[in-house]
Formats: sequence, C-alpha cells, structure tokens
Amino acid sequence: MPVLKNKTAIISGGSDGIGRAIAQSFAEEGAHVVIVARTQDKIDAAVSAIQKSGGSAEGKSLDVSDAAAYADFISTIAKDKDLDILVNNAPHVGMGMISDTDLESFQQNFKVNMDAPYMGTRAAMEAMTDGGSIINISSLNGTRAMQGMSGYAASKAALIHFTRNAAMEGARAGIRVNAVTPGPIMTPGTQAWADADPSAVDAIAEANPMGRLGTPEEVAQVVLFLASNAASYVTGVSIPVDGGKGNELYVPT
Ligand code: NAP
Repeated sequence: MPVLKNKTAIISGGSDGIGRAIAQSFAEEGAHVVIVARTQDKIDAAVSAIQKSGGSAEGKSLDVSDAAAYADFISTIAKDKDLDILVNNAPHVGMGMISDTDLESFQQNFKVNMDAPYMGTRAAMEAMTDGGSIINISSLNGTRAMQGMSGYAASKAALIHFTRNAAMEGARAGIRVNAVTPGPIMTPGTQAWADADPSAVDAIAEANPMGRLGTPEEVAQVVLFLASNAASYVTGVSIPVDGGKGNELYVPT
C-alpha cells in the first residue's frame, strides 16, 4: 500500500532539483502534492510530469522570500484539504566573502532559508490538527564551514536548530519536525555552477568519501521516510545525506 495515500503535501521549490524529486516520490506513494516555486513554466512541467505518471499534483507561483504570503498560501490550501506534510525546500544560495557582501545580500539568505520555513511551520502547525510532518531541507553547509558561504551556511545552521525547537513544540500535537542536511547533490542549480567550473565538481566528487555527488532521488528517499509513518517516533533530528562527508575527520591526499 502506498505510504502517503490520501495525504496532502506542500513542497516549496518542488519544480526542480531535490524538491522535484521529493514531489515525484511523494506522488508515487499516493500523496496529493502542491508545488510552490516562482517560475510558472517549470511548475507546469513538474505538475504535468507527475500527472502523466498517474499522480495527483497542483502548483502555485509564489516567491517564498515573502514569508507572509507563503504562510497565507499554506493556510489557504489547508482550508480546502487536510494538510499532512510540509517540506520547506526552496533555497537562496548567496555566495561571497564577508568583505565582498553587504547586509542586504546576507539577509536574503535568512529571508528564504529561515523566515519562510518559520512562517510556513507556523501556518502548518496551526493547520495540522490531526498531526503531521514538517521537513526542512538544510545543508551540510549548516554543519561545516567554508569560505564564501557565511550567509547561506549561517541560515542553514539556524534552520537545523529551529527544527529541534519546533519539534519540541509540535510533539504533543503529533506534529513531527525534522531536517535533512544534503551534501553535494547534482541538481540544475549545481549543474549551472558546474558548467562555469567543471573541474570544481570533479574535485568535490573526489573529496567525497563515496567519490561522487549524490542524486536528488537519494535525498528524496530520506525525506519520504521522514514524511511517512515509518518515522512515527522520529522528531527534531537532522539526517545527513552526504556520502559520509560530514563525518570525515580529514581528506586523504
Ligand atoms: P535548485 O535545483 O536550484 O531548485 C530550487 C527550487 O526552488 C526550484 O524549484 C526553484 O524554482 C525554487 N525556488 C528558488 N527560490 C525560490 C523562492 N524564492 N521562492 C519559491 N521558490 C523558489 O535547488 P536544489 O539544489 O535542488 O536545492 C534544494 C534544497 O537542497 C535547498 O534547500 C538547498 O539549500 C538544499 N541543498 C542542496 C544541495 C545541492 O548540492 N544541490 C546541497 C545541500 C543542500 P524557481 O527558481 O522557479 O523559483
């Protein structure tokens, strides 16, 4: 029996990359999926792919950096259908050394990667009167440091600790709140960056204990577990999906 039969799931950033793989896997397991992203064409393509494979999906064009609008949309969906699952996945990946960035660009990371999950969680917790599952897509950058990622990494670290705290508040209401911390995953976002510097991707693959990048589907399978009843006693955790990179003491030369 499909593990998400009759469930409704909202997935921000569900039109591409990891979010699209999550949307596809949820739909294959019987959920009605609601994809939130900015670009209508990509939303239409993702929704249509799910429908063509026999799944149930709809989409909404919305920029989650307007966190209040994101929360309003979640509440609107929840009025029509019981909301069971929320995946806060849409990212802002702001890069740049501290000396080369400004407050506005730094804060954009927090608007998308932390304010939207906060407002989304708030709206979802209010709507999930029969319990539910909230999954935040953080990053290995939220647990490890590197140059030029301070804003993105700090916002993703905040999301991990927000997840733990939200889990405490949702627990008695049967609302589980968890996160995943992907390592390097080959998505369109990563591909655009790889096109600009192919040798950097080879170096990242080589530096990973498994010698490769991960796939969106490998992240989606862990998110599916957290969304499903198989994880019924799991809350407040952040599961790495990183080929072991976050666990490594040093990189062999
Ligand atoms: P991606 O391929 O760039 O896709 C991003 C998705 O989010 C698209 O659907 C995009 O559609 C949507 N989106 C972006 N900004 C948005 C906004 N402001 N409002 C609404 N939707 C927005 O991203 P990804 O690489 O799959 O990353 C997914 C998640 O995994 C992110 O949280 C990211 O931080 C995390 N992660 C990724 C990696 C990796 O290596 N790929 C590693 C660690 C963590 P539109 O552009 O049309 O809005």
